[in-house]
Amino acid sequence: MPFGNTHNKLKMNYSAEQEYPDLSKHNNHMAKVLTPDMYAALRDKETPSGFTLDDVIQTGVDNPGHPFIMTVGCVAGDEETYEVFRDLLDPVIEDRHGGYKPSDKHKTDLNHENLQVDPARPGSGSDPCPVSFHNIICSPCPPPRPLSVHQGGDDLDPNYVLSSRVRTGRSIRGFCLPPHCSRGERRAIEDLSIQSLDSLDGDLKGKYYALKNMTDEEQQQLIDDHFLFDKPVSPLLLASGMARDWPDGRGIWHNDNKTFLVWVNEEDHLRVISMQKGGNMKEVFERFCTGLTKIESLFKERGHEFMWNEHLGYVLTCPSNLGTGLRAGVHVKLPLLSKHDKFGDVLKRLRLQKRGTGGVDTAAVGGVFDISNADRLGFSEVELVQMVVDGVNLLVEMEKRLEAGDAIDDIIPEQK
Ligand code: ADP
Ligand code: MG
Repeated sequence: MPFGNTHNKLKMNYSAEQEYPDLSKHNNHMAKVLTPDMYAALRDKETPSGFTLDDVIQTGVDNPGHPFIMTVGCVAGDEETYEVFRDLLDPVIEDRHGGYKPSDKHKTDLNHENLQVDPARPGSGSDPCPVSFHNIICSPCPPPRPLSVHQGGDDLDPNYVLSSRVRTGRSIRGFCLPPHCSRGERRAIEDLSIQSLDSLDGDLKGKYYALKNMTDEEQQQLIDDHFLFDKPVSPLLLASGMARDWPDGRGIWHNDNKTFLVWVNEEDHLRVISMQKGGNMKEVFERFCTGLTKIESLFKERGHEFMWNEHLGYVLTCPSNLGTGLRAGVHVKLPLLSKHDKFGDVLKRLRLQKRGTGGVDTAAVGGVFDISNADRLGFSEVELVQMVVDGVNLLVEMEKRLEAGDAIDDIIPEQK
């Protein structure tokens, strides 16, 4: 397994020019931002735990990216990375997160009750009374639904939406992040996670399964069933140093019916996931918020808080995940729409992204896609899930139109 940490003091015997990476074929945010001057100014700096500029950029040097797919090209090794290397990371963050400025503040909203019905959707329950002029409900109309059930996300069409999922990452303050953590730190994170998660009860009650205690077949079955992270095959992951010592200290904790899962020591210290079959994203998000909040307090009770600040929100390994770290997504059948020449444009307008159903580097099979929010930072958790719920509803409506042989031009959305 390659070791991605490039910390080496002898490199200072060479000039910045002699050390500067060849980025001539690169298409990633790091390569776009890094200049020889910036490299010269930052290359002898390190964070208190010893993470250097070369460690930050190695994954982007080794993975030029794809002409059409812009990767990030850098990682953090600890919480201080974002501060010490801000001259590089601030513009990367700004570029990656749609103009998010160093002075901007991030908002967190983990109250699932704030999900709304999309007012533009017919039959959403929030339509004005058809026979009233002033939005006053007249007597023959059914009474307005009380606020508690007047919420969105519980009715994504299960004929199209096969499963719904929300995940985020969390980092435990005081420990190095996966590209840089030591074996001892990684094992301490694993122990702490087991102790904390073992206190969850009710629907969330579950058990920890260490990778090293699983057979290959058990591991593969969990991967195939979409519950477990892939083996470290991604060159992005390998080059960042995150795969060192694999599978030591890695594992998955999940409740009995595998609807609430926590990955330990993969790309982030913790990845917290809520998922289930069908289209009830509201239920998935509710479990996500409740479970996540409990986990945060269980860690706090043991004297550990998550890395967070007002500007970056939750601090995670990959700059692309800062803020909420939240990816809410569905596996959805869109065989016709996905062949339509407006598909890419529609996703962009809805601020959504597509992946294959086997994970980030896979292709879609049989017209089934993983559709999720494209943003992480600058929008709250509720806002991002709302975008997915409203966007997926529209995509399904478009698919139905195409099935009926109708055009979709009149329902192409505005840019969100
Ligand atoms: P993440 O953003 O969580 O790292 P990946 O794209 O790496 O996501 O996928 C991790 C695993 O989660 C894969 O097995 C993938 O199939 C599964 N997955 C992602 N979204 C869904 C979903 N909506 N329903 C079921 N499984 C999903
Ligand atoms: Mg992943």
